[in-house]
Parts: sequence; C-alpha cells; structure tokens
Amino acid sequence: MKKNLFYAALILLTVLLIAAEFFNKTAEKSLFAFDTVVEISVRGRECKKALEECENEIKRLDDELGVNGSGILRQYNENGASDRELDFLIERALSVSRETDGAFDVTMYPVTVLWGFTKNEKHVPDDGKIREALSACGYEKLLTGGAKVDFGAAAKGYAADRLVKILEKYHVKDALISIGGTVTVWSRVADVAVRSPDGEGYAAVIECENTVLSTSGGYERYFEEDGKSYVHIIDPKSGRPAESGIVSATVVTEDGFLSDALSTAFFVMGEEDAKAYLKEHSDVQAILITGDKMVVSSGLKIKNTDEKYTIEVLD
Ligand code: AMP
Ligand code: MG
Repeated sequence: MKKNLFYAALILLTVLLIAAEFFNKTAEKSLFAFDTVVEISVRGRECKKALEECENEIKRLDDELGVNGSGILRQYNENGASDRELDFLIERALSVSRETDGAFDVTMYPVTVLWGFTKNEKHVPDDGKIREALSACGYEKLLTGGAKVDFGAAAKGYAADRLVKILEKYHVKDALISIGGTVTVWSRVADVAVRSPDGEGYAAVIECENTVLSTSGGYERYFEEDGKSYVHIIDPKSGRPAESGIVSATVVTEDGFLSDALSTAFFVMGEEDAKAYLKEHSDVQAILITGDKMVVSSGLKIKNTDEKYTIEVLD
C-alpha cells in the first residue's frame, strides 16, 4: 500500500514538472532596430507566438517612427500627413515638453542634422547656422504641424509600451526586454545595471519589478573637436549639445514613453530642475550622475553602486 502511494506521488510529481515545463517555456531573440540592439526574452506557454509578434511590432515601429523609415513619420516630415498613432505620440510629446519647460523637444531635428549627428558628419557649425536651424524648431509648432519631428528620444520607450500589450495578449508569464538603453522588466523581478558613464563596468545595479528603466548618456554618441566633446542630445534653448553637468540620467517608471522621454529631458535640464520635477512626481524615480556624485530616488531598490560615487538620496 505504502509502495503504491509512493509511486502515485512520483507520477504526480513528474506530471507537474512536465506541465510546469510546458507552461513556462522560454523564447529569446536578439535583433537590430532603432539604431540599437534589441533583446527580448519571454516565458509562457505561447512564448513563441508572443516573441514573433514582438519582433514584427518592433520592425513596424522602427519603420513607422524612424526619420529614415518609409512610414508615417517620414510622410509627416515631407507633407504633414499623420495617423492616429502619430497624433497620439505628438500629443504625448507635447505634454512632456510642457512639463519639462521645453527640455524635451521632438522638433530639434534640423539642429541635430546641422551638427551632423544624423549622417555621421559631426562637426561644430557656426552660430548663424545654429540660429537659423533653431528658428525652424520649437514644440509649439507641433500644434500647427509646422515642424519636422524626430522621435529618437522616446520611440524606444513607446515600443516598450506596445510590446507589453502583446505580452498581455499571449498571457506571457514574465519577460525581460531591452531596446538599447530602455529596459522593461515585466511581471518579474530583475537586477538591471546602469552603465558607468565613463567607461567599463556599472555605476549602479537596481532591483526592478514591473517597470521600465531608461538611461540617456552623453557617452553613447558624441564627437570631439578642439579637445571639447559634444553629445547627441541638444539643449533646445541654445541649439547646442546639452552641457547641464549630468553625464547620465536614468528614469524608472511604469510608462515606457515617459521613462525614455524624461531620461533625455533630465539630461538637458540638469540636476536642480530634474530634482524639482522628481519632487512633484512620486511615480517617477531616477538616478542622476554628475561627475562623482550620484543622486538616487529613495524609492529605488539599489543593490550596488560603484564606490567612487558620493550618494545623495532624494526623498
Ligand atoms: P535618447 O538616447 O533617448 O536620450 O535620445 C536622444 C535622441 O533624441 C537624439 O539622438 C536625437 O535624435 C533626439 N534628441 C536630441 N535632443 C533632443 C531633445 N532635447 N528632446 C528630444 N529629442 C532630442
Ligand atoms: Mg530618451
């Protein structure tokens, strides 16, 4: 009798293990989109279908929202055409621009082109040219369709939001997705490292759960001329690469678009203005690195930091 019970338990355990394996299959994929490396890892019974749809969606968005794509953004920039998705994104961009006093501004495209960032012909333009390019910019022009748009600072975050919808549709158990500096930790806990702004290694490791983390850093794309370095993020007030003192801005919040857009905005705004924003918005957490100081929102679960930084905790 005891023996029978033992065998029954053994069979039950085996069935449970097989079922667990079946329901928790993992699928992973690495691809290139948005001018960066995209890595997707999903777990769940329909993980393959979910992964395939995520990949298609990433490619669609890259084409639709890239300045060099063949989709709606290109048409908007050429002849003002739009669609529901682009209208929605422009509305969201306007709202972040207003909240950040114009530090986030998707109409900086003519200035980015002038500095040669789009074609890898980076150089310092003369002041007159900067003023001229700047006069074609300004987020208020989005209201009348009178500006060229570049979603490079928020498209990765928007893509993260779209992928979450696919994860939900396929009842994915959990997922980890990184689109360049935008990392989505979905329905699980994961340690995410923030790259050291001055080279190898990590500045901090954060325990994330159900959130999106985006980092903007001047070390990603920049050039040097006459011993001075110029980053790819433009200060809309001057038309010149941002020099706010922040060398890396990480924003952690549930909304991917906001996480990506704000990390760019904080990089432009600098420490004091970014801190003022954070004090007003408890749903947004951040890590701001300025030289050898690291400002950390108290709500973040920091597991590790590079000891060379002095830590300032922001309540
Ligand atoms: P990110 O890497 O998310 O910080 O985005 C940087 C990209 O956004 C740049 O490569 C430009 O295409 C664009 N960009 C530059 N300056 C700004 C700005 N002030 N606001 C919004 N987008 C910007
Ligand atoms: Mg960004």
